Parts: sequence; C-alpha cells; structure tokens
Amino acid sequence: VAERALIAVFEELLEPRGDRLVRGPGDDASVVRSRPVAVTSIDAVADGTHFRLETHSPADVGHKALATALSDLAAMGAEAGEAHVALALPPGFGTPAARELVAAMESLAERCGVTIAGGDVITAQALAVTVCVTGWADDPAALTGRDGARPGDLVGVTGELGGSGAGLLLLEDGGGGGAGEAAASGAGAGTAAPAAAALVERHRRPQPRLAAGAALARAGVTAMIDISDGLVADAAHVAARSGCRLEIELAHLPLAEGVAEVAAAHGRDPVELGATAGDDYELLFTAPPDARPAVEAAAAGAGARVTWLGRAERGAGVVLRDAEGGTLDARGYEHQ
Ligand SMILES: [Mg+2]
Repeated sequence: VAERALIAVFEELLEPRGDRLVRGPGDDASVVRSRPVAVTSIDAVADGTHFRLETHSPADVGHKALATALSDLAAMGAEAGEAHVALALPPGFGTPAARELVAAMESLAERCGVTIAGGDVITAQALAVTVCVTGWADDPAALTGRDGARPGDLVGVTGELGGSGAGLLLLEDGGGGGAGEAAASGAGAGTAAPAAAALVERHRRPQPRLAAGAALARAGVTAMIDISDGLVADAAHVAARSGCRLEIELAHLPLAEGVAEVAAAHGRDPVELGATAGDDYELLFTAPPDARPAVEAAAAGAGARVTWLGRAERGAGVVLRDAEGGTLDARGYEHQ
C-alpha cells in the first residue's frame, strides 16, 4: 500500500483535542502551543519482542503502543498532551489492518485527552510501532522522578499486580489462531471464565494510570515509576536512582483475581508471578508516612486503590520479605 494513501486514511481518523494544536498532520511538522514544562517519552514495540500477531490483533498493538508510552507520562505525574507515531508495517499488512491499529490508538487517545499530532509510515520486515508522547506541567516541582525516595518513606502501589503476566500465560496456552478465545474461556487453566477474560484483556489492553499519576504527584509522593519490567525490577530502579533500599512485604502484594489459579496451573508461585511479571502498568511510589491519608485520598479520587507494600530504608537494592519475616534474594526474583 502506498504510504501516502495510508497517511490520508489515518488523517481521516484523527481528531485534535484541546486548544494546543496549531497544525497537526499534513504539514512538514506539527505545531503545538506549549506550557512552561514539556515532559517527553518515547517507546517502541515490535512483533516478536513485545507482542505477537498470533495473539494480538492490530487494534491490540495500536492500543498497547500508545498505552505504554502514556504510562511513562503517568509515572511522572504529567498531564498527557500530544503523541507522534512512527509505524513500520510489514509487506502485506494491508490497509484494513493498519486502519484498525490506528483507530484503536485514536480511541485510547480520545479517552486520555491526547491528540495524535503527526507521524510517519514505513515498510519494514516486522510490525513495529514507535510512539513519542509529550505531557505538560506548569512547574517542574509538580513532576515526580525516580530519585526522591528517602529512608522512612512508605512504599505503595496502585491497583493490582500479576494480571498481565497471568493473561500472557493464558494467551500462550492458546497457541496461534483463536488463542484469545480459547484463553478467554480459561481452557485448561482452571480459571473462571470471566477472570480469565479479564486477565487476557489486562495483557492486551493495559490502561495508563494518568489520573492517578497526576493525583499522586500532587499529593506529595517522593518517587514514582510505572511497572513495566515487573515490581521487583522497577523497585530496583527507584532504589538505585534514590540511593536507598526498598523493603517489600510479599504477603501484601495485591494480586489480581485469577492470578493464583493461573500460576498454579502453570507450576508458578503466584507471589513470584505478581512480583516479577511486567506490563501491569500500575504505579509504584514512595511517600512520607504523614502523606499517607492524602495519597490514599488522591488515588481513590482517581479511581485507583493503594496498597502499602513496605518501606524505604538506608542501604541499596530491594529486599523482599516473605510472610514469615524471612528475606528473599531479590536477584533471584528479577530475571525469571
Ligand atoms: Mg516507565
């Protein structure tokens, strides 16, 4: 398909939101009215690495590419603004599939108040989607990095963990073809069908926690990160950047419904799955103990539950404590 013809198809789908966009697709560059502070993140997903077209529809891929990019803005506490998208389409991908991919992206953009302001289309060996997102703030102090955790801070997380990892296990059970449907029925995993369908959805259609991220930043969290690599690995990023140690009580992990059953059916420890599986896109953060009520209220106002997992202490790295109070080596939990 001619790239110019495809771009015309995409332009018909895309709508500007808010009043920042001066020029969108159609010129050599987009033009956006700025606020004082721009927050920019770029994310790429590729077939075979971050998803497989056997288990993800073009719409799933479009959604996931934008969602993972926006999740990084959520982790900073920024207000999402614009997205610029580069699509690498394999030969034979076809206009209907490309349209479906961009329509799903536009649908998530609409729900998040984001404008897809421009992009590029090329032909390549495998499907890859690169998304550059810009968020905004009026003051750098309104944003939260990974480096602000201090000894004595509490460690918290939004929502539920392990859902995406369990959903991926279910998808892999299904193999090719109608994987989603087989997985969504919970076939072979001993998981109730609605729970299985929700886990698969969680993996295919992650939701960026933009409202919660902004609310938590305002409520005084000291460090924040979105959980893309897995709780333990992302906690290690915060610990390293903050120069302290994060202690996490594994018994407190808020596992999503059905994770225990899926883990058991696959010979995995559910807590290990919840602590290491990535792609949940929840927010992990630290906050001083006296900010606890404000943090809980802020998250609740944004529709997110908070679970307190442990504390920041002097030292380095991540320490995991089991229900008996023993410590586990976090390194063994990181690369499974
Ligand atoms: Mg991130």
